[in-house]
Amino acid sequence: MKTFRLPQSDVFAALHEQARQRILLLDGAMGTMIQALAMSEEDYAGTGTGTPCAHPTDLPQKGNNDLLSLTQPEAIEKIHFDFAMAGADIVETNTFSSTTIAQADYGLQAAVHDLNEQAARVARRALDRATEIDGRPRYVAGAVGPTARTASLSPDVNNPGYRAVTFDDLRIAYGQQIRALIAGGVDLILIETIFDTLNAKAAIFACFEVFAEIGQRLPVMISGTITDASGRTLSGQTPTAFWHSVRHARPFTIGLNCALGASAMRPHVAEIGAVADTLVCAYPNAGLPNAFGHYDEGPEETAAQLGEFASTGLVNMVGGCCGTTPEHIQAVAEAIAPHSPRKVPSHD
Ligand SMILES: [Zn+2]
Repeated sequence: MKTFRLPQSDVFAALHEQARQRILLLDGAMGTMIQALAMSEEDYAGTGTGTPCAHPTDLPQKGNNDLLSLTQPEAIEKIHFDFAMAGADIVETNTFSSTTIAQADYGLQAAVHDLNEQAARVARRALDRATEIDGRPRYVAGAVGPTARTASLSPDVNNPGYRAVTFDDLRIAYGQQIRALIAGGVDLILIETIFDTLNAKAAIFACFEVFAEIGQRLPVMISGTITDASGRTLSGQTPTAFWHSVRHARPFTIGLNCALGASAMRPHVAEIGAVADTLVCAYPNAGLPNAFGHYDEGPEETAAQLGEFASTGLVNMVGGCCGTTPEHIQAVAEAIAPHSPRKVPSHD
């Protein structure tokens, strides 16, 4: 494929060298950190304190976490900074839902370029401040979420052929997002919380299209989600099948995030690690949510489990998803420090 003849960005060599020496650390959750701030509609829209949203809409914005990169950038920068100082090598931009498809729920399709470009700049500012303090290099991963629509399944039980979104809808929307993330200065692209592999394939295709435009390849991280006890993604794949569906992208990392806590995720991470000839990354939730949707697992508990992933050679990168805080990431940093990274098997 022509895309692989494109030169690699400088970040590839630096990250591969780091990954050879140690287990890399991703940040923790953005969504649950924002929830903890208990912001009001005015906070989200930036009409009270903050910067008013420059994109007019009549729809309520409370819950539109990605909008806070524009309306409350200091609050988002602080979350990134706290994760960076806790030990994260890579932080994710606050852009999980920054596509026209996801922002349609809030009437903010026109804001998509700004949301991504500014989110990347906010994350970069936080990391530059952290690096100024301790001299450690850190990297921004542009977070690309799944959207709430599935390209391979019908939401209508009476019409199994129906699709709420097509591959091309997703490809175009992801392309806009990825272009703006790169314009904002991200070092990597992270396609995450994948429950439908066809959506992820559209995001991968969009990455390649944008890389061809800019004449350079960025590292791409790919992270699926096992949603239940069946051990499969929502679109029905085992971890092994998931890997084979995306390996053509030659991802920098492959792995799993969200949905499950570390202990329930462990066998699936091991399965991917047994087949994938690239780095493996796992970032589980802080256990399973309780009856109120909160995550009870404390930093020590999460750290002990991810420390075990590290000591048994399962992982090259770890981090946290829903419910994980800077305290979790700091405890994980200490737990993985003594251990060597997983050895990447070489196939064919
Ligand atoms: Zn999560």
